[in-house]
Amino acid sequence: MELKLKFKEQHDLQSNTHQRVFLSLGTNINKRLEFLRSAIEKIHQLAATRIVSVSSIYETEPHGVAGQPDFLNAALEIRTGLCPVCLLFSLQRIENQLGRYRTVPWGPRTIDIDIIYFGALVRNTPLLTIPHPRTTTRKFVLQPLNEIAPDFLPPQADRAISFLCENCPDLHHVVKLSEPVLLVEEQSD
Ligand code: ADP
Ligand code: MG
Repeated sequence: MELKLKFKEQHDLQSNTHQRVFLSLGTNINKRLEFLRSAIEKIHQLAATRIVSVSSIYETEPHGVAGQPDFLNAALEIRTGLCPVCLLFSLQRIENQLGRYRTVPWGPRTIDIDIIYFGALVRNTPLLTIPHPRTTTRKFVLQPLNEIAPDFLPPQADRAISFLCENCPDLHHVVKLSEPVLLVEEQSD
């Protein structure tokens, strides 16, 4: 998949820009590829935010509620000047714009965007838990992440993503569908 994104100057980005921030995207309703594409474009359009890499797209067996369609998942690395809670609210706004409604926990969804890591930050509040608590038991999160950041050492972990991915006990199917999403930056007029 090729995505044409508007070119962003580096100096749009202010504080926190050195942090490696990782997001996990998932969708299993209707036009899954379109939801992924739109979510990635909207993330790139966020203030003070820039996408630096996107994994391939993976088709994955659902966890939790049985009988729901398979998911498409991908991982993104971004740089952002937004604070973690501002980023969470911005991502939730994108979920809402793409028609996400919350009914069954872990049930079908048009788009789910989770913050997996925010640099070395560790936060545990009802609103926001970083690192995302179920990361190490979810192959659908780790496998796309391993493609874009195998050497990243998560906070409070003594092993890098590649080790966590290889040793993940999750047996659900995760199948790579595409080559890495190609980001093409266009100079805006
Ligand atoms: P899930 O992603 O677990 O399927 P939701 O997307 O509905 O569920 O999120 C439920 C709540 O999880 C959100 O209201 C949000 O405040 C909270 N949350 C806590 N930590 C995170 C995180 N790291 N990324 C995204 N949401 C989070
Ligand atoms: Mg979520």
